[in-house]
Amino acid sequence: MSDRERGFFPGLMSLLSGLGVTFRAIFRRRVTIQYPHEPVPVSPRYRGPVHLIAESVASEHKCIGCLACQRICPTGAIPVLTTRKNEQNKNEPVDFVIDDALCCYCGLCVEACPTAALEHTPIGDMAVYTPSMLRREILHDNTVTNENFPTRKGKTGGKS
Ligand code: SF4
Ligand code: SF4
Repeated sequence: MSDRERGFFPGLMSLLSGLGVTFRAIFRRRVTIQYPHEPVPVSPRYRGPVHLIAESVASEHKCIGCLACQRICPTGAIPVLTTRKNEQNKNEPVDFVIDDALCCYCGLCVEACPTAALEHTPIGDMAVYTPSMLRREILHDNTVTNENFPTRKGKTGGKS
């Protein structure tokens, strides 16, 4: 028997073994995703970018401008939070900025908020081209803006 003939059967067995692995994998649940075309799946307990709880742009929010979230933030990720007195002589927020480039998603602001006005969003990937794209003015003149609703591309307008 020549060397070529002796190598035939081991080669065939190796090929069949490899095809067996491929065949079994075809019927397994897919664990990969087509990133960035598909969103990254996140756990239900995942803590993504913080925003004010609000239905939509210009809708109601529960922020009373107490500044507790800004004071407790360990990374200075709330660089702007201005307030004024309303007709009832109570504080109300005017401009509110969250910088996701500084945020470490610790959740302290959400915990500290006395009115439960804040929550984490379930967005798992915030890749952008410049850090400034991660700076969101979520309130402007006490009105909820579209930047309160971040998407996978940072601010509203990206692919969600
Ligand atoms: S989650 Fe943490 S780091 Fe981010 S804004 Fe809130 S307190 Fe600051
Ligand atoms: S979001 Fe909550 S903690 Fe922050 S200023 Fe508004 S009411 Fe206070």
